[in-house]
Amino acid sequence: MEKERTLVLVKPDGVVRNLIGKIITRFEDAGLKIIGMKMVWVNENFAKKHYREDIATKHGEKVRNDLIKYIGEGPVVAMVLEGVDAIKVTRKIVGSTYPNDAQPGTIRGDFAHISKDYANSKELSVKNLIHASGNEEDAKIEVPLWFNKDEMHSYKTVHDMVCFGEFK
Ligand code: GDP
Ligand code: MG
Repeated sequence: MEKERTLVLVKPDGVVRNLIGKIITRFEDAGLKIIGMKMVWVNENFAKKHYREDIATKHGEKVRNDLIKYIGEGPVVAMVLEGVDAIKVTRKIVGSTYPNDAQPGTIRGDFAHISKDYANSKELSVKNLIHASGNEEDAKIEVPLWFNKDEMHSYKTVHDMVCFGEFK
């Protein structure tokens, strides 16, 4: 079984709420390895590459357009996490899409509580602090979209040594 890589973004609401550190801590505490990290303020063209047409198929064109605006409202902190089953584990730590449904202990459950219905009734974006690749297919597109190979680093953590038996 190979380790996986996944893309995580602290969205603009997470950055302006000063939650970058608390959010990153959740992933570090679980032993996921940050192999790339940067702050980026994306333009509309880039946002459209991140929120692809499939988002419109899933949620409608309006949600996609609002997301493209939301992700460009301010800088985001982008990172690539690596670990065993990293895509699913990261999603577990992030919690459900709609913060009112997200379990306590998850980032979305602990730091937000807006519902889908409230957001849609007020024509607001669902400000849920984080993006994390949804599955292997998305991660394969999103990691290289945000990070060049030379922006990702290979190193050993204590988790690698203690938990995964990598003593080299
Ligand atoms: P995620 O993978 O959990 O982030 O969820 P999706 O990939 O399904 O949707 C992407 C993002 O779209 C979510 O994180 C929300 O910010 C936003 N979103 C999803 N559904 C809705 C909706 O019904 N209304 C609005 N305004 N935003 C939504
Ligand atoms: Mg998604």
